[in-house]
Amino acid sequence: MTVKFPEVWDLEVLFPGGSNSKELRLHIEKTNSDLAELEQLAENFEVPASEKDEAAIVTMLETVKGIMQQLNQAGSFIGCLQAQNTEDKKAAILQSEDAVLNARFQTALQAIQQQLAKTEENVWKALLDSESLKEFSFVLNEWREEANMLLSEKEENIITSLSTDGYHGWSQLYDMLVGDIKIKMNIGGEEKILSVGQANNLSSDPDAAIRQQSYEKMEAAWTDKEEFFAKTLNSIGGFRLEVYKKRGWDSVLQEPLHMNRMKQETLDAMWGAISKNKQPFVDYLNKKGEMLGKDGLDWFDVDAPVTESTQQFAYQEGAEFILEHFGKFGPELQKFAVQAFEKGWIEAEDRPNKRPGGFCTSLPMTEESRIFMTYSGSMSNVATLAHELGHAFHSHAMQPVHPLNRSYAMNVAETASTFAEMIVADAAVKNAQSKEEKLALLEDKLQRSVAFFMNIHSRFLFETRFYEERKNGVVSAERLNELMEEAQQEGFAGGLKSTHPHFWASKLHFYITDVPFYNFPYTFGYLFSLSIYAKALEEGSQFEEKYMALLRDTAIMTAEDLAMKHLGEDITQQTFWEKGIALCVKDAEDFNALVSSVG
Ligand SMILES: [Zn+2]
Repeated sequence: MTVKFPEVWDLEVLFPGGSNSKELRLHIEKTNSDLAELEQLAENFEVPASEKDEAAIVTMLETVKGIMQQLNQAGSFIGCLQAQNTEDKKAAILQSEDAVLNARFQTALQAIQQQLAKTEENVWKALLDSESLKEFSFVLNEWREEANMLLSEKEENIITSLSTDGYHGWSQLYDMLVGDIKIKMNIGGEEKILSVGQANNLSSDPDAAIRQQSYEKMEAAWTDKEEFFAKTLNSIGGFRLEVYKKRGWDSVLQEPLHMNRMKQETLDAMWGAISKNKQPFVDYLNKKGEMLGKDGLDWFDVDAPVTESTQQFAYQEGAEFILEHFGKFGPELQKFAVQAFEKGWIEAEDRPNKRPGGFCTSLPMTEESRIFMTYSGSMSNVATLAHELGHAFHSHAMQPVHPLNRSYAMNVAETASTFAEMIVADAAVKNAQSKEEKLALLEDKLQRSVAFFMNIHSRFLFETRFYEERKNGVVSAERLNELMEEAQQEGFAGGLKSTHPHFWASKLHFYITDVPFYNFPYTFGYLFSLSIYAKALEEGSQFEEKYMALLRDTAIMTAEDLAMKHLGEDITQQTFWEKGIALCVKDAEDFNALVSSVG
């Protein structure tokens, strides 16, 4: 009999007193004065002239590391305070204070990176070969590479200062435009005024008429303001392309691929493998249409529930289910999860004033994590909990690694989480007590595959084509609609009866200025993790050691090298990607067969 796990997390052990914590205040003050020291160091930091500068670089890295840890410790704690109580005004003030410290840190670090970039090639090589700097060679090379990809310091400074109003301002305008839209719905004879977010939530409403109505009303709202959205998107795209041109970057994918430490061939292989395997998902979409009593599936029916999972699990039960199945995969993962449950690392209680959604955050100074979610007993809650535990396990696996070698990119960020979630989602399907239950759980998995393989693929196709056309001038709203519909036809492999022409206006991701191409890293992460999961199924529990070694290296090599070193796989080839896809195809086949079966 296991102990009863707490449902409320323990933040007191980190900094006692919540947003009034004296210890946190002292911590912030210390960070503040350490930052001043780093700023001084950055100001005096000179271009390394010979191997003798090794010691100075080591000192600088240690200072950077210390402050990074302090900032992350405080940032995570403050994030937890805000999430657990949205009314905590003091936490919001702490958060803006923390943001200022982070910005100062980034500025100082950039100044140092710019100096390092100017090091002569032979000196640089000798430095990276030295005993104390060898372990940082990937990160240091990346810093230098990034600085070399840019224009001169002076020119980049001008771009940065013009970006505030000329670039990021458009992204903020987008948020304002969307915030201003009100959707008038008629629900059960009553008129309701909804925000775009609220109307979007109706896409999974069980009532087909409501789904259709909200879709049509939103499509009308986007149409009404399409010129504003087209202007905004063209301005963001135009600014980005102009900066790329000045820097001499030919491809719009150069920046996102660099940020994700991956090659174009890898991206092409991934989409190639997905494109070849869309038929089972088209069949699933058609089956789903049939189940809804329709001839073909419309855009607004993609998220519709066909059956409902009704099984309920008390928190303790859910936790034990996770532990049992983690244990089948590997002892370390199970041991780690037990500790997270026992030590109060998880905030799961269902109570008011908590922020929606879930996250996992790491506290590097105490080598702990905290998981946030609201647990109300569904299987999907259990899967979310496993997902967040996976993130925490990633941090745990990285503990032996120097903090400067822990910054992994977006495309591998979901490796451990998806993996952990898959263990539980698969177990749940096997464990299902009825056909209905099984269908609901399989559908849950399939909806995800459709999102990653079809919806996100269409976003990627649209965005690439939009940027190509934008190079030759402004792209009209009418043309954007055409591009979007074409991309959806292709992305869904003709599996939908109707498309969503104004999707380009409705999706925030196209308007994010900090991260370009906010789409393909999601699909990469999902499939990368699934392919590793497929390997784990093959190799059994001895795979865990390899798995942890892979996680440890996620921030110090390219995606290609990571897969080659730990899995012996060449991810520039479609065969690698097909292993993960095969698991999803199996879900689709099981679903289709189950629907057709009698009883
Ligand atoms: Zn995640």
